[in-house]
Amino acid sequence: MRFYLGTHQPAWLARDLGVPLLVSHRRLAGRRSLPRASGPWACDSGGYSELSLYGRWRTDERAYVAALRRYDSEIGHLAWAAPMDHMTEAHVLARTGGTVRTHQQRTVANYLRLRDLAPELPIIPVLQGQSIADYHRCADLYERHDVDLAALPLVGVGSVCRRQHTAEVEQIVRSLAARGYRLHAFGAKVLGLGRYADAISSSDSASWSFRGRYVPGCTPSHRSESNCLRFALAWHTRLLTSLRAGELGHQPGCGPVSPRSQGSRARGQKNGRTRPGSPRPRQARGRMAARAQNSPAA
Ligand SMILES: [Zn+2]
Repeated sequence: MRFYLGTHQPAWLARDLGVPLLVSHRRLAGRRSLPRASGPWACDSGGYSELSLYGRWRTDERAYVAALRRYDSEIGHLAWAAPMDHMTEAHVLARTGGTVRTHQQRTVANYLRLRDLAPELPIIPVLQGQSIADYHRCADLYERHDVDLAALPLVGVGSVCRRQHTAEVEQIVRSLAARGYRLHAFGAKVLGLGRYADAISSSDSASWSFRGRYVPGCTPSHRSESNCLRFALAWHTRLLTSLRAGELGHQPGCGPVSPRSQGSRARGQKNGRTRPGSPRPRQARGRMAARAQNSPAA
């Protein structure tokens, strides 16, 4: 499993960290100069913040595609990017006035539009819902539009990061994996991850930053560790070590894991990128801060 470290500091992309990063479009948009990535990274669309703050997407698909093309060429090493999806948490629905179904329809319609506009970009479809049945209905909706999710290198699972019931998330994830999907669990909690890491290709989290707010700085220049690279990397290493050892149940206080460790790369992928538009090889395996920042504090 590949685990993306969520960060709101795009400059980290240029550091040779040996850890895949997840950076939000909200943190990159409008920057005159962009860092050159030293390794694979994923771009989150920042949908949770956008819908929570404004109740709608203020960016249209053409502008988002233009931004992604710029990130792809100027930053490079873009493994994949999230679509402009619509989360289905109750307070997001309250903000937009939509329903689970309308948010699913908007999410699917957005993916189809982005794919038409930019078939060359590694934009992944994202499944949204609340109940297990919702997620499968969303998957069916993609399939009805001739999107063969099982043939794609990666499919996102959204709206799971703020849930309290990890058993429910596990059921959702496992039932979707049973359809043959390579999944990225956006914002899965660390404890939950210990239950279903074997069923997903990737996940991500910026919850280290939350935790770091309550940790004294490691140097006089750090008031806390919420922006500390060293703290973030140590957190990432501990998380992977715990996952491998199956110890996550014994690591309370790790907090939530936001959307997207390291499987073998698909043949046909260039620069480690997944290509949603092309069939995925059988062996192929497999996103940020904005979401995790809105998660319950660690
Ligand atoms: Zn520090």
